[in-house]
Amino acid sequence: MGAKDYYDVLNVSRNATEQEIKKAYRTLTKKYHPDVCKEEGAEEKFKEINEAYSVLSDNQKKAQYDRMGHETFTNASKGQYSGGGFGGAGFNADFGGFGDIFDAFFGGGARRGPRGPQPGADLLMRIQIKLRDAALGTNRDIDVMHTEPCEKCEGTGSSNKKVRVCPRCGGSGQEKRENRTPFGNFVSMATCSQCQGRGKIPEERCKACNGSGHTRVKRTITVTVPPGIDTGMRLRMEGYGEAGDAGAPNGDLFIEVEVLPDENFRRIGDNLETNVTISAPNAAVGSKVDINTIDGREVELRIPAGVQHGTALKISGEGIKRRGRPGDLLVRIKIEIPKQLNDEEKELYERLVEIEAAKKGKGGKKSGFFQDVVGKMKDSMK
Ligand SMILES: [Zn+2]
Ligand SMILES: [Zn+2]
Repeated sequence: MGAKDYYDVLNVSRNATEQEIKKAYRTLTKKYHPDVCKEEGAEEKFKEINEAYSVLSDNQKKAQYDRMGHETFTNASKGQYSGGGFGGAGFNADFGGFGDIFDAFFGGGARRGPRGPQPGADLLMRIQIKLRDAALGTNRDIDVMHTEPCEKCEGTGSSNKKVRVCPRCGGSGQEKRENRTPFGNFVSMATCSQCQGRGKIPEERCKACNGSGHTRVKRTITVTVPPGIDTGMRLRMEGYGEAGDAGAPNGDLFIEVEVLPDENFRRIGDNLETNVTISAPNAAVGSKVDINTIDGREVELRIPAGVQHGTALKISGEGIKRRGRPGDLLVRIKIEIPKQLNDEEKELYERLVEIEAAKKGKGGKKSGFFQDVVGKMKDSMK
C-alpha cells in the first residue's frame, strides 16, 4: 500500500512546515472522508491521506522517511498501516538495551488487520564495520530480540492449545468503533479489541506468553558480510523480523552497513588509495618501497626516477575484491623535503643548487628539480 509519495498525497512541498502539513491534511480529510465524499476511490484516497499524515506529522518518522525515501520506508514498514483510520499505530523504538543500534519501526497489535493472518513486520538494524572487513568480508555476531511463537502453547496463546471463536466479533476480527474527529463522529470498522483481529481467543490463556502466542527471546545470529560491501548497503536476514500471525511468515531483519573511515586507506569505488612518503633524493633517482595492502601483506612498489609529488602509482588487483573482479591500490606519492640537514647533506644540496644554477646559465629553461619540488609543495599547501 501507499505507492505514492506522502508529500504528493498531501499536496505539499518537501519543505512544508508542520502547520502547512496539518492544514493540508485537514482540508483533504474534510473533502475525502468516506461518510462525506461519494466519489469513487474516496475511501482509498482517505486512507492514503491518513497514512501520509501519520508519518509526516511525526518528527521522528518524517526524518526517517526523508532519509530513506518512499519506497524503502514503506517496504520497511509494510503492513504497518493496514488498520487505517485516525491515530494508527505508532513507531516503537523500545528495544530495551538495544536502543542504540536497533532502529525498530514497529509497535505491536495494530498491524494485524481484519483480512486474515498478517505477516510479521520487517526490522532495520545498523552495524558499523571497519574498512578492512568491508574489503575482505567478515562474519559478525549480533544480538537481536526476536519474537517467536511461544513454545509452551505452540503459538496458539492457549495452554491446552485450543482456541475458540471470539465472542466480541464472532470470528470476523472486526468491530464497529466510533471515531471522534474534528469533523464529527464517524462509525468505522476497526480491529477487534478482544482478539486483536485474529477472530479466535485462547480457551485457557497461556501463562508463558499471556495469551499472545508470542514470546520475545534474545538470539545471537551470525551475519555474513560479503567482501566489497559499502556504506548504505543492506543485508537481509530472512525471518528475523517480527513474528507474523499464526500461519503467516515472520518479517525480515535488514542490516544496514556503515563502513568506518580508515586511517591508512580511502575507498574510491572499488579502488583503494593510500599514501607513501619518500625523500626528495629517492624521488629524484627512483627507489623501491614496501606498501602495506588492506589484508596486511607487504608488496614492493618500484618508484620511477623523477616521480612528482601527488602522483598516484597503481598496484593492480589490491583494491576491493568484489565479485571476483578486484579494484586497484593507488599509492599517492608524497615527497618530503628535509627540515634539517647535517653538514654533509647541506654540502651536497648546495652542490646541487650550484649545478642547477649552472644549467640555467647555459640557457636551459627548465627549473631545477629541487626548486620544482619546493614549488609544488608550496602549491599543494595552498
Ligand atoms: Zn474478536
Ligand atoms: Zn504461550
